[in-house]
Amino acid sequence: MKYDVIIIGAGPGGIFSAYELAKKAPQLKVAVFEAGNPLEKRHCPIDGDKVKSCIKCPTCAIMNGFGGAGAFSDGKYNITNDFGGTLHEYIGKTKALELMQYVDEINVSHGGENTRMFSTAGSEFKKLCMQNKLTLLDASVRHLGTDINYVVLEQLYAELKDKIEFRFLTPIKEIEHTDNGYRVLYGDGESAECDKLIVSVGRSGSKWMEQVCKKMDIPTSSNRVDLGVRVEIPAEIFSHLTDKLYESKIVYRTAKFEDAVRTFCMNPNGIVVSENTNGIVTVNGHSFEDPSKKTKNTNFALLVAKHFSEPFKDSNGYGESIARLSNMLGGGVIVQRFGDLERGRRSNWKRINEGMVQPTLQATPGDLSLVLPKRILDGIIEMIYALDRIAPGTANDDTLLYGVEVKFYNMEVKLSERLECNYPGMFIIGDGSGVTHSLSHASASGVYVADIIAAEA
Ligand SMILES: Cc1cc2nc3c(=O)[nH]c(=O)nc-3n(C[C@H](O)[C@H](O)[C@H](O)COP(=O)(O)OP(=O)(O)OC[C@H]3O[C@@H](n4cnc5c(N)ncnc54)[C@H](O)[C@@H]3O)c2cc1C
Repeated sequence: MKYDVIIIGAGPGGIFSAYELAKKAPQLKVAVFEAGNPLEKRHCPIDGDKVKSCIKCPTCAIMNGFGGAGAFSDGKYNITNDFGGTLHEYIGKTKALELMQYVDEINVSHGGENTRMFSTAGSEFKKLCMQNKLTLLDASVRHLGTDINYVVLEQLYAELKDKIEFRFLTPIKEIEHTDNGYRVLYGDGESAECDKLIVSVGRSGSKWMEQVCKKMDIPTSSNRVDLGVRVEIPAEIFSHLTDKLYESKIVYRTAKFEDAVRTFCMNPNGIVVSENTNGIVTVNGHSFEDPSKKTKNTNFALLVAKHFSEPFKDSNGYGESIARLSNMLGGGVIVQRFGDLERGRRSNWKRINEGMVQPTLQATPGDLSLVLPKRILDGIIEMIYALDRIAPGTANDDTLLYGVEVKFYNMEVKLSERLECNYPGMFIIGDGSGVTHSLSHASASGVYVADIIAAEA
């Protein structure tokens, strides 16, 4: 099988590459190889009834398949260079924002037309945050919501399926450099060839990506992991912020260690979920546009970035070990009341049930101080009290903390300003490249390389 372009991975990076190639260079023969299922066959078996926690399926319905890790995400497309990746360092700030806006237009014209765009510009919260030693980062955010995000993906697939060849349940095992381009190996000794290769394997493909880079001698670096908890509170406590901004990215510098603690992935009236990355169960969150699916709680993560210096290189391994510890103690995700954490005791169902926050995830009541390193836990506690000053009630005893939330950063692949690695014609994009960590940046990187390939076709 011979193609002009092969795309590995059908997450936002791969989908937007495919979309742009179909539009700008329809003469090219393009195939997308995806390890997971088509969108309609992606079903996580956790139903809260028969299956209460992760059973570690061979391909995780949450992380793999058409739509990638973003398919059941909250669909928050943050249009900003302040967070979500470092794409602007490669392609420039103006270009990066322009592409994120272009992606937004495509989402809006494929089912997202009735969704809202929120913005921090001119917000009175900037001042309130500053007065309380907190920094509110600038961004515009399109909130699709999990349900509309799904509709957008359905529409994109419907438009692409006759123009692009999609090969689902086909994980690529190896990449080989040939005289004229690349060969990808899959299945039982099967292979396909292409002139240009776009690799967009996301976070779930991070281990595989590392092996590819090692084998092909593609330079990489890795030194960061973010660790923390997911906080769940009654939605009213944060409603003044979430009604106006939806998602607020707030950063606090701790007094004790001068570490930066930040809010991440805010889900007003949402649910807390568990997720499985390479067999390790961590916590995350969703929210829905559909009013019937809204809960009484808001959740968000509090993360502390940990940068390591020489000689330690395995920052993800560090994060994994801590997540494994919580899995060992709790069989998965651990939940603890803030009041119990402060009193140095394990939570139990009696105290949680008597509290005013009813958990939206069935986790194991436990003690997060046995899992998270002191420095990180101290930072989180300080941040909860800082947030309590702008949203009184955040530091209530009944506030629930789920752990652990880990944000793994893929090793950063050394790339040119074309997002091309040291092999000409091999582009590495999205979260798998380490350059992006978000829907909008990953999608924009897909458009960017497709435009380069189309212009040279
Ligand atoms: C629960 C959850 C909620 C999130 N919410 C948000 C949010 O609201 N806003 C936001 O900006 N970001 C969010 N994110 C992060 C966002 O989903 C990712 O940043 C984004 O999906 C990255 O896109 P990507 O295309 O680079 O990778 P991915 O979306 O991870 O897609 C990679 C694809 O490649 C496939 N793949 C991997 N290895 C191979 C292989 N060897 N062969 C073939 N296929 C392979 C995988 O199966 C996957 O489908 C969330 C993530 C999760 C898990």
